[in-house]
Amino acid sequence: SRFYTLTAYPNGLPDRSLFALETQTLPDLAEGEVRIRNHWLSVDPYMRGRMSGLRTYVEPFGIGKPMEGGAIGEVIESNDSRLKVGDNVSHMGGWRDIAQLPAEGLTPLPENDVPEQAYLGVLGMPGMTAWTGLNLIAECKPGDNVLVSAASGAVGSLAVQLAKAKGCHVVGIAGAAHKLAWLESLGVEPVSYQNRTAQELSDAIKLASPNGIDVYYENVGGICLEAALSQLNEGARIAVCGMIDSYNAEAPSPGPSNLSQLVIRKAKMQGFIVADHWSSYPYFLNEVTPQVAAGKLAYKETVKEGLESTPDAFLALFEGGNTGKMLVKL
Ligand code: NDP
Repeated sequence: SRFYTLTAYPNGLPDRSLFALETQTLPDLAEGEVRIRNHWLSVDPYMRGRMSGLRTYVEPFGIGKPMEGGAIGEVIESNDSRLKVGDNVSHMGGWRDIAQLPAEGLTPLPENDVPEQAYLGVLGMPGMTAWTGLNLIAECKPGDNVLVSAASGAVGSLAVQLAKAKGCHVVGIAGAAHKLAWLESLGVEPVSYQNRTAQELSDAIKLASPNGIDVYYENVGGICLEAALSQLNEGARIAVCGMIDSYNAEAPSPGPSNLSQLVIRKAKMQGFIVADHWSSYPYFLNEVTPQVAAGKLAYKETVKEGLESTPDAFLALFEGGNTGKMLVKL
């Protein structure tokens, strides 16, 4: 089996040399274990938090220990009655080609026409995150004016479409022109944040949403948050899903200068971690799977080829290198 380890905890943007590809011979399967050949690996922004050496809501990666992450693969050997050779499963043994794990805790994929890697994106953790933040945290309702940052990413692109499907007016913030064009094709008002000050971004949001913002789905922080705060309507709700703008910061970033807008607009801002809401995953799947299968919800993937591309795929998340879900295909 080949797997990645982290050689040290980075300060700032991780250097490519911090990721080491190692090889090991796997032991025989213990009782209850299965061996899985991974087809798809997920790289996600939250993994940067696991490289800080500090415990947040998930343990840091151990130095010199196999890294982990979402993955989809096929059982090639089984020592557990629940899984047989040929079964496809979703699991956390990513950043490697062959995973050996207890069968307990692996999620068999349902048999349907949806491509298996969708269970790392639109029908997996990022999709569930979009649904949770929009519905359970921001309590988005029909007619709301909704703003989403990192709107063309894995989480953001589902959040904008779920809000559109509710009959909301939706503005999406993204970088590159092709991302803005995709958002526009989804019926979203696209707004670029690139080369803009918070004030300029705020003006652009106002043009795109003249009736203000009732729900802000926050993925970025920085000038996106500052711009959003100044366009809030009374009683607005902000779901704080992530703040990718600060994940590689070498020192704490200053807060937005206009946080007092929360007081003036009597707005509510709430962070959340999707894992705490996992008991609702079946409800999410029931609602969203038929729409994905019927092609009513669009999702894009950016695919890098080969295990060796995993660190680069991860690092590209911080440079806007992905549209939709960033994946590694083995
Ligand atoms: P994305 O697919 O959205 O990929 C990251 C995107 O963020 C990039 O493509 C880029 O798009 C944008 N971005 C990166 N750096 C910056 C920056 N400095 N300023 C503005 N935009 C930037 O990732 P995910 O959909 O997987 O995750 C989105 C957010 O959701 C992240 O903040 C993540 O941490 C969070 N998250 C939170 C969870 C929770 O439980 N709370 C669970 C899962 C995700 P662009 O080209 O537009 O700049």
